[in-house]
Amino acid sequence: MDIRKIVLLTVLFFVIKPLSAQEGITARQFFTYEKFLASDQLEGRFPGTDGNNKAAAYIKKQFKKSNLKPLNGSYFQQFKLSIKPNVNSIQSDTVETNNVIGYLEGSDPILKSEFIVIGAHYDHLGWGGKGTGSKKKDTFAIHNGADDNASGFSALLTIAKEMGKRKSTFKRSIVFVSFSGEEEGLEGSKYFTEHFPVADSSVKLMINMDMVGRLNAEKQIYMGGAGTFPGGEVLMKKLGVGSGLSPVVNAGSIGGSDHVSFYKKNISVIGLHTGGNPQYHTPEDDIELINKEGAALVCKYIYNTLLQIANYEQPLYFIKQD
Ligand SMILES: [Zn+2]
Repeated sequence: MDIRKIVLLTVLFFVIKPLSAQEGITARQFFTYEKFLASDQLEGRFPGTDGNNKAAAYIKKQFKKSNLKPLNGSYFQQFKLSIKPNVNSIQSDTVETNNVIGYLEGSDPILKSEFIVIGAHYDHLGWGGKGTGSKKKDTFAIHNGADDNASGFSALLTIAKEMGKRKSTFKRSIVFVSFSGEEEGLEGSKYFTEHFPVADSSVKLMINMDMVGRLNAEKQIYMGGAGTFPGGEVLMKKLGVGSGLSPVVNAGSIGGSDHVSFYKKNISVIGLHTGGNPQYHTPEDDIELINKEGAALVCKYIYNTLLQIANYEQPLYFIKQD
């Protein structure tokens, strides 16, 4: 091993090691959340249905348990959503649904007024109400969306639980949000970015997780947007060292999930996923195909990302990508 490597590894040890407690980030914890959200009893979590409301209530309960506080007095941010005719038994063309929001205050007297948002949508297609971008024919069956996006939701709750134990040992404040209406065209995140519960300019970066439950044999975690903040590409590669993952880091390639709503508002973003699959938007996107051990590695990687960014030494600002 050459001297540069030794220096790099020593630096990484002291920089990253003290920050990564993460004992509670386990495949078991992840799977507890996953089993709830991907179960038939929620009937695919289509906005405006009981299953969707039950999921929102569950998120609120878990946020509270993990010491997250409500912003502006409520964990719920309700919004109206227009829906196209679909196979879910909804008569009206407008429904009410909720984004669920919780936050942890940062410890630095100045930097705590800056916010890092981490999010994952919890809604899905119900009994088959075709989401945007789906070329598949509707099939009348429960679409559990185990990967899309019970996996991102479970990662969000797992990370929130671990972060909630740290009692503000991070400088910037962190907002955790689970969006509804993603499958109808990123509606929940659009509403959120148009009605920020904090000052617009205080939102410095958004981390999104959509489909993170199917880590492949090459252990690839894909991401877009790493070039939208200073030092982002270097950081995201560096955090891959010793993580058990092979990060595929794109500076741009912003992609098509909720972080796009933030990017459009000139906010730095990182959008993470473990890749597409043939079961996407079909009733076969089920829990048996989830790689829970892989998901735990992904959770740890994202948890470390969040901590690094909440404590980032350099000022965070937006860098546009093509
Ligand atoms: Zn999704």
